[in-house]
Amino acid sequence: MRALFIGASALSALVAAEARGAAASGTDAEREGGAAKAGEGSKKEAQISPETGRMGDEERAAWQRELGGRIGEDPEELINIHGLWTQETLAVPKNGDIAVGEDIAAEVVDNFFRCHFTDQSTDIDEKLLPVLVRAAKQFEVDRVEIVSAYRSEKHNLNLRKKSRHVARNSQHTHGTAVDFRLPGVHVSRLHRWARSLRLGGVGYYPSSGFVHVDTAEVRYWTLR
Ligand SMILES: [Zn+2]
Repeated sequence: MRALFIGASALSALVAAEARGAAASGTDAEREGGAAKAGEGSKKEAQISPETGRMGDEERAAWQRELGGRIGEDPEELINIHGLWTQETLAVPKNGDIAVGEDIAAEVVDNFFRCHFTDQSTDIDEKLLPVLVRAAKQFEVDRVEIVSAYRSEKHNLNLRKKSRHVARNSQHTHGTAVDFRLPGVHVSRLHRWARSLRLGGVGYYPSSGFVHVDTAEVRYWTLR
């Protein structure tokens, strides 16, 4: 299984997303905790000669064999994980579970979930991406929207100035939390499902329309 990374940035879309994100963010009440993570991965690509910028004969033959093997197959179904602030989409195969460091490089995940405010990245807990993929499968949707993932200290401090609900030691600053929603799925259903995982913390933000999931100790809260 191979994950695809598609980057995109359109100014008008970004402005719209910022407006949506601003409505959803800034009201976060996470409690303290911590978690470790690790991961390393590889990505297979067609080899391009650095001198000519083209594939060699051998590489071309191998690439064509691989493409030929796919003729007649249905296109792979994908889940699009979309960052509302970055306007980037991480497309992952719908079939099977995704393992960070095996199916997708940890660096790709770390970069995708980076702090949109400072562009800094950190080691993202490898348990988070599979939760998003499982959620999409559970509710049979092909899009997951990320409201907030990693937050640099600077970004978190900034949010704290705007809202008393933002925790100083938020799990978001440890790369162990993600706020997300599934378009077309009521947030109360997503919340119930997230709690059933018993993975860690689950925050319910019904008026903002998203769920917070982290990998610290199991605990629950609601912010209406
Ligand atoms: Zn959160």
